[in-house]
Amino acid sequence: MLGPQNVRVDKRSRIEHTYGKSYRDLIRARAGIFPAPPDGVVYPIDEGQVAAILSWATERDVAVIPFGGGSSTLGDVEPQPGERLVLSLDTSLLNRVVALDPISHTARIQAGARGPELEEALNARGFTLGHFPHSFEFSTLGGWIATRSAGQASTGYGRIAEMTREVRLVSPVGLVETQSLAATMSSPELLCVLAGSEGAYGVITEATMAIHPQPSLRDYRGFLFHQMKDGVAALRTLVQQGPRPTVANLSDAAETASLAMLSSDHPTLRAIGDRMLEMYLTWKEYDLANGSCFLIVGYDGEPDQVAKQWQQATAICRDHEGLPLGRTPGTAWKRDRFTYPYLRDTLIGMGVMVDTIETVTSWSNLLPLYKEVTSVLRTVIPATGGGTGYVKSQVYHARPSDACLSMTFIGRQVPGEEIEQWWAVRRAAMEVIAGAGGTLSYPLSAEQDRAKWLAREVGPIGVTILRALKQALDPAGIMNPGVLPPV
Ligand SMILES: Cc1cc2nc3c(=O)[nH]c(=O)nc-3n(C[C@H](O)[C@H](O)[C@H](O)COP(=O)(O)OP(=O)(O)OC[C@H]3O[C@@H](n4cnc5c(N)ncnc54)[C@H](O)[C@@H]3O)c2cc1C
Repeated sequence: MLGPQNVRVDKRSRIEHTYGKSYRDLIRARAGIFPAPPDGVVYPIDEGQVAAILSWATERDVAVIPFGGGSSTLGDVEPQPGERLVLSLDTSLLNRVVALDPISHTARIQAGARGPELEEALNARGFTLGHFPHSFEFSTLGGWIATRSAGQASTGYGRIAEMTREVRLVSPVGLVETQSLAATMSSPELLCVLAGSEGAYGVITEATMAIHPQPSLRDYRGFLFHQMKDGVAALRTLVQQGPRPTVANLSDAAETASLAMLSSDHPTLRAIGDRMLEMYLTWKEYDLANGSCFLIVGYDGEPDQVAKQWQQATAICRDHEGLPLGRTPGTAWKRDRFTYPYLRDTLIGMGVMVDTIETVTSWSNLLPLYKEVTSVLRTVIPATGGGTGYVKSQVYHARPSDACLSMTFIGRQVPGEEIEQWWAVRRAAMEVIAGAGGTLSYPLSAEQDRAKWLAREVGPIGVTILRALKQALDPAGIMNPGVLPPV
């Protein structure tokens, strides 16, 4: 059906498609533990081949797992253990920008296109998608839609679901095409149920995305606030009153202290710069190591418009006693934004437990939830043998009503029990978040009982609706079994 070159059953291909990139995945991969690799990997080159694979798999009761960049941290590209044959369907050959409408500012893009590929093609025509998750280099458009991804510039350009105008999804029962102009007022929008479906309903082959003219200027600057609450108030004012930033990223005191350690690569410059900065900040009553919080704000656009936005934004930050630090921190942030998250991978190899847990919550709930989760994490890390531990947080993906709180916990690994220890810490934080009404992403594995967490969030009727959708689109249950409640 696909030709021998696009079907692989060799050990390396199967191993490379067994896991995503969660802490649990990296621990097992490094220990050489691959309990249930897929039996084969297929690389369709067009939508017709995707449909043919799904028909073939339905007839033979073979499970199919869509695989984009494999950067997921939720365990949702991993085959379930068992007797059933499993195919990983890799979308990397579906990677083209098919059409661009410069008048309507939309582009039709194939689902397997990775961040750099699609940005390069759009930039060449003077546009950008504006979606830059930390995993930008390795993740795909289909993966972003299937996991409701949010990027670093989501405050300005929106989260992926807000940019998606139309989706083509090949399900085992046929092609689902959502309407681009969702103006019908008499039915729920189908697109909403396909975004976030994690491959459980079918394979997204293509999407029509809202795009934006390439900005001629990306002006990113840093501010320092005395306390977290001042930074949160400034950020909330910026997104509620405007000018709404393209990028806004607030670090708590612990994250600010760790960023300060990365300030300059050059030892002499760093020594002089650090000393002068310290004296100046002490004079202004800011303390990089203890309490002050760092905010990155960025505006994309044309120079005149950006200059006006900066005038207003600076005034808002100053109202909350924000100290302008200029463009240097903004330039450093831009430089490191795709590499900094991979410090995690290096640390794991040095015996460090490190993971990030994210929740979206309302502005009114943000600081109480932040304090509660931080305090629980600080207690539970030592209780699991992780030593004193370190917890640092950021606030981003801000909208007028809510924002995302991203909390990183760090401790010493307990050798031989790394996964149990990590899950004990993560579960404790998830309990607090679920109890306080924050949204969650749930890791997928048998012992972590995703169905229970999902039922807690969507309720019994919500679970019935999800089951009905699964029954309608995938009655034989071949699509990524386990990620959503089975039929
Ligand atoms: C270092 C690091 C940083 C990260 N930063 C961010 C971030 O800033 N923002 C963010 O949102 N996420 C982030 N993530 C998580 C991850 O990158 C996202 O979830 C991303 O959207 C996954 O895309 P992918 O192409 O790698 O999908 P995969 O990992 O391949 O798949 C993820 C899920 O989507 C399904 N899927 C993939 N392609 C399709 C398709 N074409 N049709 C149907 N289903 C499909 C898979 O079956 C699976 O269930 C990060 C991960 C890492 C490791």
